[in-house]
Amino acid sequence: MKPIQELFPLLSQPRKVVIVMHQKPDADAMGSSLGLFHFLTALGHSATVISPTNWAEWLKWMPACNGVIDYEYHTDKGNTVLDQAEWVFCLDFNTLARTRSMAGKLKKLDCTRILIDHHQQPETERFAYGISDTNKSSTCEMVYDFIVGSGHADGINRDIAACLYAGVMTDTGSFRFPGASAAVHRMVAALKDTGLNHTKIHENLFDNFLENRLRFIGYVLQSRMDIYYEYNAALISIPWKDLVRFEIKTGDTEGLVNYPLSIQGIKMAALIIDRDEEIKCSFRSKGDFDVNTFARKYFEGGGHYNAAGGHSSGTLEQTVQRFISAMKENSSQLQ
Ligand code: 5GP
Ligand code: MN
Repeated sequence: MKPIQELFPLLSQPRKVVIVMHQKPDADAMGSSLGLFHFLTALGHSATVISPTNWAEWLKWMPACNGVIDYEYHTDKGNTVLDQAEWVFCLDFNTLARTRSMAGKLKKLDCTRILIDHHQQPETERFAYGISDTNKSSTCEMVYDFIVGSGHADGINRDIAACLYAGVMTDTGSFRFPGASAAVHRMVAALKDTGLNHTKIHENLFDNFLENRLRFIGYVLQSRMDIYYEYNAALISIPWKDLVRFEIKTGDTEGLVNYPLSIQGIKMAALIIDRDEEIKCSFRSKGDFDVNTFARKYFEGGGHYNAAGGHSSGTLEQTVQRFISAMKENSSQLQ
């Protein structure tokens, strides 16, 4: 993988570009992809954004989000665009497997693949150009660096700012995680200078749910959460029938895994959800417990040191048992 800076001189010639993100994209994946989309389009490139799956309602306010192709539903359209692409930017994921059913297609493409990502252990051999930096707060920060580094800081308009702000705010836990560096705050200052309304963006992301989601959270915290004080760990496990009962949609469970970390002494929190199509796992930690390694070792996943995910092909009960054994195995690191 050549350094991304080598791409900068090539930006002056218009290309057919596709931008892809990970499945069930969060605000960083969608925000970085749309931020880059607005930037490349303004430079004269012909750009299309594809998501491997659908995405949450609360991302739909992002400028140009209604033009994003849902690959699961519009596979033929997605494949046609991919076949014509000269460049494919892969944003906010470290392995092609994170694009679910798109992975096979992406592997076969005869075009230039470019990585911009901040997850651990990326598959760099799959990319011609790229940047992988696990110290970066978010992929949105990296897209900002890309725009500024390529000499186009003055091209950052309010649409780009809105998309990038959404991802940097959510991936830093509203600027509280250690990744919220001085550079991140300087970036936010520059985004504010475009006229960005950060209050509105916070509202769009955090005060934009339906009643059922709040009732669901209340129910789950009451009935589906176990605390293992001897291991400083907590687990929320949710059967499929709860998702059906509360009419839970994509994105409604985002953030749920963080709640147990607000309990004194809890160092690691896990969320295991039976989504019917798969058992999805999320892990969060505080301090020196490495959930990237944990997710990788026991749940075919990965991510960051303090935030990672994975999945399991067993039943919900089997996955919960696997988690409990894994927690016990890691007892000393959890002290
Ligand atoms: P979440 O728990 O919010 O789904 O994901 C937490 C972090 O781990 C995110 O940065 C996400 O991209 C990453 N992640 C989630 N699931 C997986 C997975 O199955 N494999 C890998 N490699 N990373 C994941
Ligand atoms: Mn991210």
